Parts: sequence; C-alpha cells; structure tokens
Amino acid sequence: MSRFLSKKYATLTPYVPGEQPRDMKYVKLNTNESPFPPSPRVVAAAEQEANRLNLYSDPECTELKRAAAELYGVEPKHVLPVNGSDEILYFAFLAYGDDQNPFAFADISYGFYPVYARFCDVPSREIPLKDDFSLDYRDYLGIREHILIANPNAPTGTTLPLWQIEEIVGSNPDRVVIIDEAYIDFGGESCVPLIHKYDNLLVVQTFSKSRSLAGARLGFGIGSEQLIRDLNTVKYSINPYNVNRMTQAAGVAAIEDDDYYRANAETIMTIRAEATEQLQSLGFTVLPSCANFVFAKSGSVSGEELYQKLKARGVLVRHFTKERIKDYCRITIGTREQMQTLMTNIQSILAEKG
Ligand SMILES: *Cc1c(COP(=O)(O)O)cnc(C)c1O
Repeated sequence: MSRFLSKKYATLTPYVPGEQPRDMKYVKLNTNESPFPPSPRVVAAAEQEANRLNLYSDPECTELKRAAAELYGVEPKHVLPVNGSDEILYFAFLAYGDDQNPFAFADISYGFYPVYARFCDVPSREIPLKDDFSLDYRDYLGIREHILIANPNAPTGTTLPLWQIEEIVGSNPDRVVIIDEAYIDFGGESCVPLIHKYDNLLVVQTFSKSRSLAGARLGFGIGSEQLIRDLNTVKYSINPYNVNRMTQAAGVAAIEDDDYYRANAETIMTIRAEATEQLQSLGFTVLPSCANFVFAKSGSVSGEELYQKLKARGVLVRHFTKERIKDYCRITIGTREQMQTLMTNIQSILAEKG
C-alpha cells in the first residue's frame, strides 16, 4: 500500500477471481465459462467492428438494447447494457445503498456481493441458507433491506421457482429486489416477465456463461423504466462508454444466433446429468444444480485436497475456504472430453487414498 491510499480503502478485501494460471495448459473447470467458443457470426461481427475502434462506442448501445429488449420480451427503455453483469451490481449498490438502506443476501452466494457492499460503504446482512443449502424464500418476505439473490444460486446451483421470487418481490414493495440470473439458461425460470408488474424488480443477466462471451464483458440490467433511469444516472457519472464497440457488435450477433447458444446450453445440461451420476457413483454428494456447474463433496477426500491434487494433475476446479462449504468443490461443466479427464483424475486420486 502506498502512503497515498485513501483511509477508506486501507482495509478493503477485494474479490478474488478464479485463478487463470499460465504455467501449463489446464482443463479449466473453475470459473464457469462456456467450454464452447462464440458462434462464428459473433467472431465475424467483432472482427468487423475492430476496424472502427478509433471511434467511441455508442454510449446508448442503441442497437444492442433493441436486440436485447426483443430477446427478453421487454422494451429498450427497460434495458441497460453493461460491462459484464458485475457492473450492474456495482451500479445498484451505488444507486440504492446507504446507511439507511442496507442490503441483504445469502451467506453462501456470489462472493462479489459482500465486496461491493464494503466498497460502497453499504451495510449488509447475510441470511443463512438452510442446512441443505436451500434458500427459504420466507426469510426474505417483508424485510427492511434491499434484496440481492442469485437465482440459480452460486456456488450451490440450487434454484427458486418463479412464484417464490414473486412472493419476495411483492412483499417488499419499498425495497429493490435484485435477481441475478447469471445461470438462468441452464434450467431455471426467468423472472424478467415480472418487471411489467413490479417496479421494484431489477433482473441481472450476463452473456458470460451461457453465451460464451466472458472475455467480451457483457451484461444487462432489466427493470422498470425508473430503475433503469437511476442506473443510467450512475453509469453516466462513471463511464458513459462502458460497453466497447466490439462487444456491442458481438452482443447483437450473439442474440441473432440464439439457437446456437440454446443448443450449447442443452448440451451442458445433458453433460451435467452425466457428471452428477458419475460423481455420485464415486461417492460424492452432489447438490441438485440448475447451473453450468455442480457443487460436490467427496466422502473420502477434503475439498482442499481434491482441489490441490486435481490442480497438480492439470485440472482446475474452484474451492472456497469458507467454513460452511470447505468440504465442497465447485466444478464447471465442460465438454464430455474435459469431464472424462476430470473423472479419470478423481478416480486415481481416490485410488491413491486406498
Ligand atoms: C459469473 C457471475 C456474475 C458475473 O458475470 P459477468 O457478467 O462476467 O460480470 C454475476 N453473478 C453471478 C452469480 C455469477 O456467477
């Protein structure tokens, strides 16, 4: 730390992204990226746009907003494209959080939520998941905080039915309810249609997971016209050109190629079912997942040991040191070949243990 760093940041604990090591070629099952490349049309659109990188991007993202609105069945005024969905979360903490307006989120959820809360100086309350890692929607009815829920949740993969989301949104009319749908394309039910009924609902979507664009950084906030206006006020006060030209073009092309991504999501779900069965037959407990990962615990190897030994063998999975989940590893669903490599290595690790 230099002697210049503001006191208010001196004790920050930043978010730790999944590792991206370069020392060898790993089978990467640790950051929930898609194992499939973007569609050829997306690559072509981004390449074409590269020729215009001398010009600023459209700060309104006009075309992208129109395409996304159509995809989600809303109007462009309900959509705010952002530089990865993390950015809309950041904007929401800035826009709606302060001493009088704390946030609530689950104790086991996306690790960035508490980081943004601290960074934005917003008080927060962590609501524990149940012993089986399910979220009881009744814990969120009529509470005094703004609410942030990942549905499906990460790193657990469990999901809430639409009616429970609606109960939460409807019972907190004077609180903003943010539903982070990063993994919704892998088997959950989106609550986007509810934005027409509830002006306090903000839905967060990303193209990082199901649409193979993690490196392009593209996400969306979807909500009432007033919420989107608030978030635009924040955006134009920080970085009006937050979504670059190549990403805007890639996003439009990705939406036009929706079938490609739907097919890939189907494949991931099929492989997820196979992997779940294989892990169970190797003695793992696997939480029911509606995401592109499984959260699994071995009967004989600790989470830390499994993570370390897989890494030594060239397979990366994600391990969290938090007490409640330290026995588990979060394993991204890759291609069949990648999953085969994973299973072979797990078998040999288990065999070593005897
Ligand atoms: C991956 C992820 C995000 C962030 O996605 P980006 O769009 O890449 O910023 C947000 N929320 C959850 C729950 C995620 O898992």
